[in-house]
Amino acid sequence: MLDYLIINARIIDPESESDFSGSLGIKAGKIDGVYRDYVALPSAKETIDAETGILVPGFIDIHAHSENNIPCAEKLLAMGVTTAVSGNCGYCAVDLRSFFAAFEKDGYPVNQLEQAGHSILRRMAGLFDINAPASVKQKEKMKLLASQAFSCGACGLSFGLEYDPGASPEEVLELSRVAADAGRFVSIHGRLRYLDDLDSLREALDIAETGAQVIYSHLVYMYNGNALKEAMRIITEYREKGANIWVDSGMYTAFATFAGSPCFEEKIFLNDDAETKKLRAASGKYTGEILDRDKYIEIRAKYPEDRLIYDPGKNDDVFTAYSLPDVMVSTDCMEYPAGQGHPQDAATYPYFFRTLVKEKRQLSLLEAVKRCTLLPAKAAGLETKGRLSCGMCADIAVLDWERLRENATFPGKGDPGAPPSGVEHVFVNGVLSIKNEKRIPGVLAGFCIKR
Ligand SMILES: [Zn+2]
Repeated sequence: MLDYLIINARIIDPESESDFSGSLGIKAGKIDGVYRDYVALPSAKETIDAETGILVPGFIDIHAHSENNIPCAEKLLAMGVTTAVSGNCGYCAVDLRSFFAAFEKDGYPVNQLEQAGHSILRRMAGLFDINAPASVKQKEKMKLLASQAFSCGACGLSFGLEYDPGASPEEVLELSRVAADAGRFVSIHGRLRYLDDLDSLREALDIAETGAQVIYSHLVYMYNGNALKEAMRIITEYREKGANIWVDSGMYTAFATFAGSPCFEEKIFLNDDAETKKLRAASGKYTGEILDRDKYIEIRAKYPEDRLIYDPGKNDDVFTAYSLPDVMVSTDCMEYPAGQGHPQDAATYPYFFRTLVKEKRQLSLLEAVKRCTLLPAKAAGLETKGRLSCGMCADIAVLDWERLRENATFPGKGDPGAPPSGVEHVFVNGVLSIKNEKRIPGVLAGFCIKR
């Protein structure tokens, strides 16, 4: 007998590229059967009527910062995300062994992968000056620590070179070679030494020469306007030469990061009030407010851990970014207290489907599902996720296509953590975690996935 039978669904499997009405059976955490409408159905302990809703593999967020915060992971779950790849932009859990052990013991709202983060490796090697290159000895130490992280189960190596601008190109390449040798991918938040710095894109893509698979992180947070188009041309040029390049992007051009980060340095924001007005506090005492010079100075000096959102005001660039083939959807979500944060954490996936598929018809539904499921599964080496055939993990979302839409918005305008409408049911490893749009309290069915 099945654990669950989901009937009356429009089933979309990106691997077989099929789209048909039918039913799906779940048993012991796996997909046990996918049935066309005309076959007899096995019995199940519980039958769920999808009411012609869309049944897809649970989404895989290829660029998240959800590893240490259950509310953050629950926002992902509410959008239909069942697996998140974290440890991005150079930052990861410091002690990976106990991190993975805690996951195995306690579970988590979603499945979670973790990378080794270059910035953390630098600190562990005793290098605290973000503007200094690593010494030979420090590089050797970092390489050893990276190898240890991979043998613990880290799925990749992440760089956040904008946050550690002192890292030398040799340091980046030597560490990437360690990842390549271990069969791990390298994800990179590029250096961006100045606005529209495309040389730093080439530096990131050149990592593929080490033999490593490269994931270029959150494309639309790095480039806008003509620079974005040029970046897409350069990525295409590298791909055509055979470089193993993957790209993810979010649904916003307005990005959030720590107020103290080099992204918000004084030489830009103290000299240009128009730039300061593009800043909105995502957390802390000014949450939701657009900054002026005085607030900028105060937050930068006193609250460097607070997050700011920088809005370049050109959100149509998001749609341009997805015109590049195989761009995967990602959130870049981070932990925030209730009422604070960035809508990317709770809106990205419904917003993606509402605009790119329903309204603009820029992507077919099948192609859009692929960018949230099969492609990131392949990028992260997940062979039993992102697909809907027998034996695959029962990570599943059922969507009410008519009602599917985001409700989260920027702080100051509304609630950045508001859950979406139309994400009806979500299973994680065969365990019902959201039913009729309601979180089933306390269900922590996600595993840590070690490589
Ligand atoms: Zn980043």
